[in-house]
Amino acid sequence: MESTLSIQVEKTQNSRLSQVDFDNIPFGRVFSDHMFVTEFKNGAWTNSSIKEYGNLEITPALISLHYGQSVFEGMKAYKNTKGEVFLFRPMENIKRLNRSADRLCMQNIDEDLFLEGLKQLVALDSNWIPEADGCSLYIRPFLFGSDEFIGVRPSDEYKFIIFTCPVSKYYSEPVKVLVEQKYTRAAKGGVGYAKAAGNYAGALLPAKLAQEKGYHQLIWTDANEHEYIEESGTMNLMVVIDGKLITPPVSDTTLPGITRDSVLTVARHWGITVEERALSIKEVLEAHKAGKLTEMFGTGTAATIAQIRSIAYKEENHELTPVETREFSNKVSAFLNDLRTGNGEDPFGWRVQVK
Ligand SMILES: *Cc1c(COP(=O)(O)O)cnc(C)c1O
Repeated sequence: MESTLSIQVEKTQNSRLSQVDFDNIPFGRVFSDHMFVTEFKNGAWTNSSIKEYGNLEITPALISLHYGQSVFEGMKAYKNTKGEVFLFRPMENIKRLNRSADRLCMQNIDEDLFLEGLKQLVALDSNWIPEADGCSLYIRPFLFGSDEFIGVRPSDEYKFIIFTCPVSKYYSEPVKVLVEQKYTRAAKGGVGYAKAAGNYAGALLPAKLAQEKGYHQLIWTDANEHEYIEESGTMNLMVVIDGKLITPPVSDTTLPGITRDSVLTVARHWGITVEERALSIKEVLEAHKAGKLTEMFGTGTAATIAQIRSIAYKEENHELTPVETREFSNKVSAFLNDLRTGNGEDPFGWRVQVK
């Protein structure tokens, strides 16, 4: 019998690598030469291969296009100054994809197959990983129901694909955020903790309305009262008040970010008091007025740390402390970036080298 881990590799004869201007890469539009593809059929993962990146042929009756059985992950590979290639905590993404899949009643991906496909794909396209400071290879694994059937029920067949995109340094100018008072991203008992495709569609309109008013991002609040902070855009949120690092707990309404967990772990390692608890807008604004709110930032794979410059709540805008004065977030950002690229120390064993 064929082992689940046997991956057929068909290298492309037409690499597009020489056509890429690595000094000028728009995010998410440039795709590396290869992709990993596998499918779940008749109760097993089968036909696993790495082949040239290209279009899929799909039926108009693809079940996931109609009813949204589709989940994804976002992670990165890095190359250091010695040319070594690293993944950052990949098992956390693999497990999270399966937790998302569970919530949408989808087949789980075989963890070993995911990791093996990922490593082989990144190794094969390692020339696509930009080496310049702050650049990386963005990795997009995703899983979707692939039955040709339009009845509402879980799909029997699934496809799992990984493709990659070289990305430039993420210039995150400090963002202006608006506290959302009408729309809800996630409610108790819902799918907010899953990286489910539909969650992002539901966030587009409120985000667009905020952008039209001049804000970069929303702060999502709880579905009941719109008083408690949940997260911002596709980032978890943290504040420093009175020297303590405070962040909303992970729950079924917030996405359990791997960057979030990494920042909290590093903070505890540095002896900083960390509180994972309900955090109201009122508490944040009162701390700001009293001069106790020294930092506010988002955490996520794309930017690592995205500084929040101002926060608008019920028509009133509040300018926060200058970014240069924010000791913890600047320090943890530099620490994590050095760790991930393999240029700094790795006291937690988070790096996985790809050879
Ligand atoms: C992916 C994501 C995050 C951040 O997760 P990381 O693992 O740190 O990249 C936070 N919030 C939402 C809604 C997300 O989709």
